[in-house]
Amino acid sequence: MRILVSNDDGISAPGIVALASAAGEFGSVIVAAPNRERSAASHSLTIGTPLRMNKVRFPVPVSEAYSVSGTPSDCVKLAMSQGMDSPPDLILSGINRGANVSVDIFYSGTVAAAFEGVFDDIPAVAFSLDTWDSGADFAHAQRWVKKTLARLIDSNLLDKRILFNVNIPDLSPRKVKGFRFTRMGRVRYRDSYERRHDPGGHPYFWLKGAVEILDEDPDCDINALKDGYVSVTPIRPELTAFEVLDAFSEVPAKAGRKKRSPVSRCRKG
Ligand code: MN
Repeated sequence: MRILVSNDDGISAPGIVALASAAGEFGSVIVAAPNRERSAASHSLTIGTPLRMNKVRFPVPVSEAYSVSGTPSDCVKLAMSQGMDSPPDLILSGINRGANVSVDIFYSGTVAAAFEGVFDDIPAVAFSLDTWDSGADFAHAQRWVKKTLARLIDSNLLDKRILFNVNIPDLSPRKVKGFRFTRMGRVRYRDSYERRHDPGGHPYFWLKGAVEILDEDPDCDINALKDGYVSVTPIRPELTAFEVLDAFSEVPAKAGRKKRSPVSRCRKG
């Protein structure tokens, strides 16, 4: 198996070293990652400036490692176009420092890099560790990466249309309760921006904010993680609200009113 590994914390982050090393037990590994941290880059692409891709030495054995002057999505696209003779069998992203649950998947560069695989019919898995600690220990997360991959491969669950979003609790190994297969939970971010002043007296802002969990279901990603489980959420890029499409095709004709077609509704905005 040929595995492409990327992340959004940058090629020097300890999480990608742990992930590439774990991936090495399942196949040959190519690393392509941003040359600096690009967390919360989502799917952004570099289109107005040149991209540089430099072959670099990597701390653990891999076939190739590339440092890219772009975003996580740039890395995956560029590696598949220029760094590899044929598409990989699997794309892995992470291990991110910080969980990616609920709507985080829309902002996350870690999840975006993995999604690039699914966009191209390549199975993908994104891994995140639930900690913001800059000295985080990825050794135990790495063991869960191996267990997760073994489980997904043995159960024949890897699918070219599905991204597995995996979140690992930052707990001592004995406290982790095992896997829980989950759905995306519902949270709301109450964003706040801290206003500070630079030495010239000009104001600048720093995003803070708190998360409010709106979901009580233990089988959603954020609650599983909170309860000490490794959360595995299968997700896909299809976002169409099918029930609304269905409702459009079944709009009941009210008394005295002519039934409108979905097209006329759309036109009326
Ligand atoms: Mn990150």
